[in-house]
Amino acid sequence: MGGILIVGAGLAGLTVAETLRAEGYAGPVTLLGAEPHAPYQRPPLSKGFLLGETAEAQLMMRTAEAMEKKGIGLKVPAGTHSAGAGVTAIDRGAKQVTLADGSTLAYDGLALCTGARLRPLPLAGADADGVFGLRSLDDAKAIKAALETAQNVVIIGGGFIGLEVAAVARKKGKQVTVLEAAERLMARVVPPHLSQFYLDLHRGQGVEVVLAATVAELIGAAGRIAAVRTGDGREFPADLVLVGIGVIANAELAQAAGLDVAGGIVVDACSRTADPAIVAAGDCSVRRLDDGGLRRLESVQNAMEQAKSAAVALLGRERPFTATPWFWSDQYDVKLQMAGLTAGFDTVVTRGAAKVDTTTRKFSWYYFRAGRLIAIDSLNQSPDHLTGRKLLDKGISPTPAQAAESSFDLAALLA
Ligand code: FAD
Ligand code: NAP
Repeated sequence: MGGILIVGAGLAGLTVAETLRAEGYAGPVTLLGAEPHAPYQRPPLSKGFLLGETAEAQLMMRTAEAMEKKGIGLKVPAGTHSAGAGVTAIDRGAKQVTLADGSTLAYDGLALCTGARLRPLPLAGADADGVFGLRSLDDAKAIKAALETAQNVVIIGGGFIGLEVAAVARKKGKQVTVLEAAERLMARVVPPHLSQFYLDLHRGQGVEVVLAATVAELIGAAGRIAAVRTGDGREFPADLVLVGIGVIANAELAQAAGLDVAGGIVVDACSRTADPAIVAAGDCSVRRLDDGGLRRLESVQNAMEQAKSAAVALLGRERPFTATPWFWSDQYDVKLQMAGLTAGFDTVVTRGAAKVDTTTRKFSWYYFRAGRLIAIDSLNQSPDHLTGRKLLDKGISPTPAQAAESSFDLAALLA
């Protein structure tokens, strides 16, 4: 076939394909997926879709006609175009991939956009009826159906997935317990004061949150989950358990093909691997920074930015990923928007809040290191987030005093 093959028909894969077309590439472009769906959005799976506010059709990123019009081929298992479209091996010498059905396809350029899979809970009973993980549309459909009848929901893992699903389950009137291994919620992605805010928020909504919890046993009855026992001997009745304890990058294909893998497929700022014909983008990858360190981000923006860089790299040009990282999370009526990375801040000020507690749900935190703005976390304050992203992108920093003063026009600094 030749042309460009894209392994993984998710957000990063679709963005590579569309960027290739937008950049004028006229050769064949084919997305090879492992799920029996056209590319769909994952973020609503733990939010509007579970709540019943977002329909399945709204999750789909492009119609078949739109993809056809752009000349983007799609091979996914069963139902759509062909069976066994998942890629099982890469032969870099011959420049071809092998699919699950044993067939091979040749490429001129290859984009690895294989995403990540759920980290499994290493306990007996993790496969019992009523125990779920949430990564795919099919996972979300199964959880949505189970939520109809469940009364007691136990969530293992107090990260984004666990807390977003906790909020949905509470909104649906379920008894909800969150068991988090760390000393605080969302410890991997937010600073301690934000963990405390979310602890108060969830407890205020009636969620039982247990920190520093060890899950010792999943107790089943006739193959169905009945309770979860923690290391201190407490038992939490459960007819639905959601395991949200992080993800593992799908990097085995790349590793088997001899590419550099370190918790993800190692790429540079332009999404290039060491093989000039192969790029990687999104959750499957990890980016080598200028200082030699590695940065792994699992987010929509990261997948899109890396994918755009990857497509341009396949065309022999450079588009380094320099944009400020941003993320969001919706829990109850609180939209958290994060711009920049807070690691290493030495000063933090709030803007728009006289008092920081869960009764005030509309303000922002501004983080500084050595006097320079490095990140902003906003609660129900999209204008702060959007202005903040522009300030960070341009390297313009207010002083902490200016950031804290609501009457000071931060957008004016952009002029
Ligand atoms: P994926 O979306 O995982 O797509 C990769 C695809 O590759 C998958 O379909 C996979 O089946 C396929 N694949 C894997 N191996 C092969 C193979 N060998 N052959 C063929 N195909 C293969 N991010 C945010 O920024 N904000 C949010 O609010 C947010 N909410 C989220 C909610 C949920 C429930 C989940 C699961 C994720 C959420 N994320 C959110 C994260 C975001 O969805 C991911 O960062 C993004 O989907 C990454 O895109 P990707 O294309 O790299 O990977
Ligand atoms: P996560 O952010 O890594 O959070 C998982 C949490 O579970 C961590 O706090 C982890 O603690 C804890 N944990 C690990 N093992 C545990 C155990 N045995 N018992 C109890 N707790 C345990 O990942 P996630 O929330 O599962 O999300 C998965 C993926 O979806 C990520 O890529 C995430 O970015 C994405 N996602 C994003 C959003 C969003 O951006 N709004 C929403 C949903 C999902 P340790 O860190 O100590 O291991």
